[in-house]
Amino acid sequence: MNEGKENITKPTVPPLGGGGGLSGKETSLLTKAIRIQTPASQQMEHSTPLFLTSSFRFEDAEEMRAAFADETDDNIYSRFSNPNVDEFIAKMCALEGAEAGFATATGMAAVFASMFSLLKQGDHIISSSSVFGSTYAMVTKFLPRFGIEATLVAADDKEAWEKAVRPNTKMIYLETPTNPQLEILDLEWAGQLAKKHNLILNVDNCFATPLLQQPMQYGADLVVHSATKWIDGQGRVLGGIVVGKAELIKEIYLFCRNTGPSLSPFNAWVLSKSLETLDVRLQRHCENALTLAKALETHPQVSWVKYPFLESHPQYEIAKKQMKAGGGIVCFEVKGGIESGRKFLNGLKMLSMTANLGDTRSIASHPASTTHGRLSEQERLSVGITPGLIRISAGLEYIGDIIADITQSLDAI
Ligand SMILES: *Cc1c(COP(=O)(O)O)cnc(C)c1O
Repeated sequence: MNEGKENITKPTVPPLGGGGGLSGKETSLLTKAIRIQTPASQQMEHSTPLFLTSSFRFEDAEEMRAAFADETDDNIYSRFSNPNVDEFIAKMCALEGAEAGFATATGMAAVFASMFSLLKQGDHIISSSSVFGSTYAMVTKFLPRFGIEATLVAADDKEAWEKAVRPNTKMIYLETPTNPQLEILDLEWAGQLAKKHNLILNVDNCFATPLLQQPMQYGADLVVHSATKWIDGQGRVLGGIVVGKAELIKEIYLFCRNTGPSLSPFNAWVLSKSLETLDVRLQRHCENALTLAKALETHPQVSWVKYPFLESHPQYEIAKKQMKAGGGIVCFEVKGGIESGRKFLNGLKMLSMTANLGDTRSIASHPASTTHGRLSEQERLSVGITPGLIRISAGLEYIGDIIADITQSLDAI
């Protein structure tokens, strides 16, 4: 396949509505997540089929010319667009309140595309210092290789954010809640800062999902997601997406169409189906996480518990303002440092020890001995990884069983 001509600009996916009709503006997010659908084929299938095809056929030379000239919306090649991918994008745009989007093979591909397509040599980016590990590497190691400078700022130091702005600053990047420390950044404040200095505000909304928090309401220009987490929610596929203002997504689309991080139709089909159950799953995730957080607060082996909707959380008020619920992750510090953290993991009988989160199955991890094990203790502390920090992704199991497993392992330390 030759590269398409550079004038193809097909980033926007208008809301599809083939699943039996959407009633209009008043339609709730919940209904959109379920009802936005690729129009049915002649078979009148109820569930969208899988369009597992690399390319799309044309009837004649004129039709093919028109598609390449962007005079029609026809699909050309699945690196550019595909009905399953478009359906997933249309749903995510509706949920985030975004004009356009582009779906990627992983969450990191979405973060990558959102930075590398919009920043160039000589530009400057300000990022929260507490971001996902690979994002941290992208900002501190890879952007500088291409002459893009980065300043990292502590999430809660508002003065430092303001001071970090330079004439060549182009983008603000942040995550809220952060992984794994669950810090909350004030989106309203970040939106105002970006507007004041005319910067692109790019928010990783993975930990909240659009059903708990919509950054674009506060002035975000772009929202990125790892769809691998709660959006799939069943630990099956990797995926990512960036949604936002049409003019920015157009740039991202052109970059991705030529560099190739596109989401596969199969994964898009899985993820689009997953969105239909996101609301009910999230309700249970959040309910289980909050109940677990409260139970952990009373355990003598635990020195502190962090959960956005616990009153003891340092940014509880902000969390309440911008989130509908506290999300599915709970963090706590087990007394006794690294050794106790390892003992706790080894003592678990039901919870899984695995690198994922946002799964139906509850997951426990100990960042100090795993994801952040290569850092010195000092470096770990500077990014908020205390020796006994445990991160729990509350699954959908019966909460009594989750608490019982965690409690028996804590008791045995
Ligand atoms: C997992 C994760 C990512 C990366 O997503 P992948 O799908 O694993 O590439 C980015 N941001 C956050 C907050 C994450 O938790």
